[in-house]
Amino acid sequence: MKHSLIQDQMKRPLRDLRISVTDRCNFRCSYCMPAEIFDKNYAFLPKEHLLTFEEIERLAKIFVQLGVKKIRLTGGEPLLRRDLPVLVQKLLKIDGIEDIGLTTNGVYLVKYAADLKKAGLKRVNVSLDAIDDELFKKINGRGVSIKAVLKGIETARTEGLEVKINMVVKKGMNDREIIPMVSYFKEQGITLRFIEFMDVGSTNGWNFDQVVSKKEIYDIIQAVYPLEPIEPSYFGEVAKRYCYVGTNTEVGFITSVSESFCSSCTRARISAEGKLYTCLFAAKGFDLREKLRSDATNEEIAKAVTEVWNNRKDRYSDERTEETVKNRERIEMSYIGG
Ligand code: SAM
Ligand code: SF4
Ligand code: SF4
Repeated sequence: MKHSLIQDQMKRPLRDLRISVTDRCNFRCSYCMPAEIFDKNYAFLPKEHLLTFEEIERLAKIFVQLGVKKIRLTGGEPLLRRDLPVLVQKLLKIDGIEDIGLTTNGVYLVKYAADLKKAGLKRVNVSLDAIDDELFKKINGRGVSIKAVLKGIETARTEGLEVKINMVVKKGMNDREIIPMVSYFKEQGITLRFIEFMDVGSTNGWNFDQVVSKKEIYDIIQAVYPLEPIEPSYFGEVAKRYCYVGTNTEVGFITSVSESFCSSCTRARISAEGKLYTCLFAAKGFDLREKLRSDATNEEIAKAVTEVWNNRKDRYSDERTEETVKNRERIEMSYIGG
């Protein structure tokens, strides 16, 4: 099977695929899965609705034929999915895959880092929004101690995985943690990336006033630890990268709100139940599971994906205003996969 590479309506190729492997999570981060909504009555996806590893592998092969080079596994909490290292191994064997990433809250790295490394994984992104234990316990909504995450990070590094930390900054929630986080991870030589708080989903009560912009974060850091810019290393690189002067340690900014980057967005997403989304802010997905479980051939599925991508016009963050924020129906982050 050989397809020509595909482009959307803004001439953006398809290069990256984010696959959510579960909509469940052991945390209830207040800005992502608030505990009062994602409670014991919340209808998570039943097991038989989730794509199997074989189905994910089949889709990944099709997407690679269409131009995908990088895959990121996410969720929910991806390490809650049983035998995840087996999936990593299957995906890494696909010809044309250059890189696999994993985004996790880090707690289960203690258990799985060695198997992930053995499976061929090279790096993990650990999400961590505070270094102060009391605050961290509050944010994760489950009272989990920072020690569990730090232990996960340590285990991953001992096993030889590269670790980057992602911190979402929300005004009034954890902006006071910017310098403590920088100090801690600079000392350890670990890259820290700041993510602007986004209006994903409709359960986190987002508004513009809660966003701490890249400029604000940059100024706070620069006043204590001077930074110098690093050139982007490839087209479509999302993070704006800097290093602390006199070191190789990096700090990055994902400026989804203040400096959107839709014009170079080459990312597709597949939800845990196999819906294809062409934007993090899409309201509707295309049902790939139904195709996979019908007698459609790989050629037919590739054709369907090509059509979806060719029709893609998404540029939500470029167009974000008070109005779009209010009026758009949106999928939850834990479902679509961050
Ligand atoms: N559970 C894993 C984790 O937390 O790393 C993977 C899934 S989580 C949805 C992926 C990333 O999305 C995390 O770094 C999280 O902080 C981020 N995220 C969730 N809601 C967000 C929001 N409203 N704005 C910005 N980032 C958000
Ligand atoms: Fe779970 Fe990640 Fe969402 Fe936190 S950000 S609730 S760890 S999916
Ligand atoms: Fe890509 Fe949509 Fe985010 Fe723009 S808003 S960068 S199109 S996912």
